[in-house]
Amino acid sequence: MSFAAASDQDRTETIFALASGPGRGAVSVLRLSGGATGGILRSICGDVPVARRTVLRRLRDRSGMILDRAMVLWMPGPGSYTGEDVAELYLHGGRAVLAAVSAVLLQLGARPAEAGEFSRRAFMAGRMDLLEAEGIADLVDAETEAQRRQALRQMSGALGALISGWAHQLKRVLAFQEALIDFPDEHLPADVETSLLDDMQSLAAEMEQQIAKAPQGERLREGLVFAIVGAPNVGKSSLLNALARRDVAIVSPTPGTTRDILETRIDLGGVPITLIDTAGLRETEDPVEAEGVRRARARAASADLVLGVVDARSPEACAGADIHVANKADLAAAPEAMLGVSALTGQGLAALEAVLLEKATHLAGAGADPVFTRARHAAAARDAVSALRAALACGLPELRAEELRLSLQSLGRITGAVDAEAILDDVFAAFCIGK
Ligand code: GDP
Repeated sequence: MSFAAASDQDRTETIFALASGPGRGAVSVLRLSGGATGGILRSICGDVPVARRTVLRRLRDRSGMILDRAMVLWMPGPGSYTGEDVAELYLHGGRAVLAAVSAVLLQLGARPAEAGEFSRRAFMAGRMDLLEAEGIADLVDAETEAQRRQALRQMSGALGALISGWAHQLKRVLAFQEALIDFPDEHLPADVETSLLDDMQSLAAEMEQQIAKAPQGERLREGLVFAIVGAPNVGKSSLLNALARRDVAIVSPTPGTTRDILETRIDLGGVPITLIDTAGLRETEDPVEAEGVRRARARAASADLVLGVVDARSPEACAGADIHVANKADLAAAPEAMLGVSALTGQGLAALEAVLLEKATHLAGAGADPVFTRARHAAAARDAVSALRAALACGLPELRAEELRLSLQSLGRITGAVDAEAILDDVFAAFCIGK
């Protein structure tokens, strides 16, 4: 009770935050949300502008001193982002302007928003489900094209629609079980029972397929790690530079000079990849170099893909590599089984990039289909499948119904829509066959 009362009060508090990037810029966008927004606008601009039209206003503090001349946008609830009264102020993008306006907003009773608070309010107001809210966060973080596509898809509700489709099917099966519980003397016709079981089977299989694809979505969201390993001086740093098209690593003719791990982020066909150049993997007396070797081994061991590089003149394959590359192919022909490249001349690099792109797409997907993008999605879906499989395994309508409810609840955790009342309502609606 007290928790609900407190959170209700929190929700009516008016919050504000910088919606644009921090620092100096042409324009800073300050966003406000909450019940006092209209009153605050009246105080600082002299009026509440017409809804959803940008207007130019002089912003003033309470003594009437002008703070800035700004575009003002008023978006009254419930049709706003958060569902509450929202305003945006397009200020001149200086730090002092932002500080002065923020100080006045504080005086007028608004408080700085916490991280994610606008989206949280939007979720609480039913403006979006959890998946859509996560999609917005991912879209803001997206660095590459495939990440952008994946985030946009989730934000637009593609993943949510998939989950609702599953929930809908579960509710239909549950409705039949409820009917058998309420009217124990009646039996489902055998063909109805069979098709119900078939539906449950194929639903479980579909969920399992989606769970199997989950690592792709997570990898695309987080980015892949490719490690370049090989003996000193085979040209690992040179290859990293060639792939990154910039001078990240210090290339040196002396073995063992890439002491530390060097990382660079590249965009490979829309998939973000952290390329790691490892210190020459050789036994060494030098403690600094030994530490480099140890860290390189650890990083390479947890990498999504290991590129083993050798010198084409003495091509001894790297154990444990996923792709074998013979560098310095300008000096000697590469063996058949290896990809011959030259970091120096660029020979074979396009072919290597094509292979890497294929691997990356295989590992991370292309952001084209709705996929789970967070561990919590797959974990909840796994719970949903095991409950569904348990429902299939038990014959008693009561037990089966219970497992189906558990399965639905797990799905509800994905979208944030766990609400027993709503599930019951749905069951009743599906079940109104005149009885
Ligand atoms: P690492 O120790 O494996 O990182 O090797 P480096 O990238 O530092 O390269 C070692 C030496 O090999 C440097 O002198 C490079 O200029 C040279 N090198 C690297 N790649 C090539 C290549 O494809 N062809 C030739 N001829 N020399 C290369």
